[in-house]
Amino acid sequence: MNINKSIGCEVTTCKYHAKDQQYCSLDNIMVVQHHNNAQTVEATDCGSFENDNK
Ligand code: SF4
Repeated sequence: MNINKSIGCEVTTCKYHAKDQQYCSLDNIMVVQHHNNAQTVEATDCGSFENDNK
């Protein structure tokens, strides 16, 4: 599996997570905001997430 050390990630339930290391395996991701004009950390997220259990 490719490990992209430019994208740190703790979401081990994502199918793209490097699992044994806290990184993403994708070449790039899209960070999204849940509302227009996000003002908090909670209002942003990884839009490239996909559930590992599906
Ligand atoms: S796609 Fe997003 S949530 Fe999934 S491992 Fe990469 S950075 Fe984390």
